[in-house]
Amino acid sequence: MDSKNLPDSPVALVPAERRISVGRMRPTTCRATPEDLKKAEEEQKDKARYKIEVLFHPTKRSSLAHKPAPVMVLIWESGKRLHGGGDEKMYWCGYPDCGKPFPSDDFGYMHVVCRHCQREQFLDPDARATHIKMARREGKDSSGLERMPIVGGERLANLTPPNLAELLVKTWYQLEGNADVYFKHTSRKIRYDKLHETSKDMDNLELVRIQRKPGILTLKDIRRDLANGADLKSMFLAMIVA
Ligand SMILES: [Zn+2]
Repeated sequence: MDSKNLPDSPVALVPAERRISVGRMRPTTCRATPEDLKKAEEEQKDKARYKIEVLFHPTKRSSLAHKPAPVMVLIWESGKRLHGGGDEKMYWCGYPDCGKPFPSDDFGYMHVVCRHCQREQFLDPDARATHIKMARREGKDSSGLERMPIVGGERLANLTPPNLAELLVKTWYQLEGNADVYFKHTSRKIRYDKLHETSKDMDNLELVRIQRKPGILTLKDIRRDLANGADLKSMFLAMIVA
C-alpha cells in the first residue's frame, strides 16, 4: 500500500458513523435489467450442485468393453467449502443395501448416522478399532460394533468401461441428477488403501485434482443431450473410452 493512501488516524479511532458510511458512499448505479436477471437465472439453473470425479490410473486405462481397468470415483458438493471457493467431499453409506451419498456435514465424533437409512457407522478404521477395543476392555459384547461398517469415501474398483458407465449412471441419479462429471488421470497409483486414507493423502489428492486437465461432462451438456434423446450410459461411456 502506498503511504499516502493510509488513513490519517488509526482505523480503530475513526468514529463509528464514518466507518459505517464507507460501505454506503457509492450509490447503486448499475441496476440489473430483466434480461440480466433472466441470464443469471439460466446460468444458475444449470449450475450443478454436485460433482462426480472419475480418476483413472495413469497408465492402465481401458477402452475395450471386456477389459477392466482400475478406477476411483469420488463425489463432492460443488463450491461448498470456503464460501464457494472449494468442493466438500461427500461419502457413501457403508451399508451395502443403502449405499446412498451424504455430506460430511453429517459427521459426528468418530461416527456418522446415515441420513437415508438412519444407521450408525464409523468414520474410519481407527474409530472402529478403538470402539471395539474399549467394548472388549469393559467386558461388553462387541459383535454389534464389529458388524458396523465404515463410511465410503471413494469407490475403488477394477471395472470394464460399460460397468464403470453403469456405476456413473447410478451415482449421477443418487446425486439427484444434479452433477457435473469430471474424468481425470491421477499421477499416483490407485489402490484400495482405506487404512492410510489420512488428511495428508487427501492433500495429495487435492494436488492431483488441480494439476490434471479434466475431461468434463457438465450438467448443462448432460441435460441438453438427454433432452435430445441421448442415453446417459452412452454419454458416460464415450467419455470413458475417449
Ligand atoms: Zn444408509
